[in-house]
Amino acid sequence: MSNRLEVRNVSKCFSRKSGMVERGAEFIGLKAPNPIVRALDDVSLSVAEGEVVGIVGESGCGKSTLGRVIAGLLQASEGSVLLRGKRLEDMSGKEAEDAGLKVQMIFQDPSSSLNPRQRVRDIIGAAPLHHGMTTVHELDDYVSQQMVRSGLDPSMANRFPHQFSGGQRQRIGIARALAVQPDVLICDESVAALDVSIQAQILNLFLDLREQLDLTYLFISHDLSVVEHISDRVVVMYLGRVVEEAPVGELFSNPNHPYTRALLQERPSLDLAQRQFSAIEGEIPSPLSPPSGCHFHPRCPMAMELCRVERPELRSLGLKHKSACHLND
Ligand code: SF4
Repeated sequence: MSNRLEVRNVSKCFSRKSGMVERGAEFIGLKAPNPIVRALDDVSLSVAEGEVVGIVGESGCGKSTLGRVIAGLLQASEGSVLLRGKRLEDMSGKEAEDAGLKVQMIFQDPSSSLNPRQRVRDIIGAAPLHHGMTTVHELDDYVSQQMVRSGLDPSMANRFPHQFSGGQRQRIGIARALAVQPDVLICDESVAALDVSIQAQILNLFLDLREQLDLTYLFISHDLSVVEHISDRVVVMYLGRVVEEAPVGELFSNPNHPYTRALLQERPSLDLAQRQFSAIEGEIPSPLSPPSGCHFHPRCPMAMELCRVERPELRSLGLKHKSACHLND
């Protein structure tokens, strides 16, 4: 399988912009520059044609920032994003515009990502009309097609978002994304706000659409059960770095990295005999001053002296299984 999407050595730093007075104080040495948060730290990963890759980790691990960088909503501070082998920063004009449409993002809260004053017909139809994918004459049919595909009744196209349930609003978000004929969908906690039964329906819709439209997914979630259900491969992130990646069965049955093992242990089991609620020891450190060496060392029960000083490389452990831990050296 060739790669539809590739992320190469991407880092993303944030810092608060100083005002004029602060800049003056910094210039004459009266004030230290604002601290820099490294939300992504040299992240590389690839997603094959038609693959579903799950991204997991505690909140603050950088998974949403990664999704936004890939979708072009944030610019990487270092590194590149490639779509079908071509770097996005090397594209311009129509090619860059088309590439922007090919990667679409579906957010957690459908209510805040839909304009409450727009009718569903306009929410779904505005972008394809603007980009010449349909005409004014054919717009109603085009919107109906996207609504049917997303499991919505097209006779409701003239309603406003508040007239739909939470699950239906998420379907409107999906129809809006599909309307611009994407290749890659980035789902950022896209089912987290929904009831469990509705979650299952939306996950099945994602899987059906993958078959029908040859879609590739990056599925960002803190919910390991959801990720296990939908993914072919899973990437585990901790404080802006990838610490482990493996095919889904391998990761859940044979986790290597101590952080992955702790995450899986934290997951409550439906089997009462095995039910465990042991949270990972300690708080996730502040990304403003991440620990040296392996970021996980203050919480890792296996930490050694080397872990405090040297960053472990992401090394191959076998077929498509990689882990960043000194215990594998
Ligand atoms: Fe733990 Fe060291 Fe491995 Fe990090 S590198 S996960 S601290 S054993």
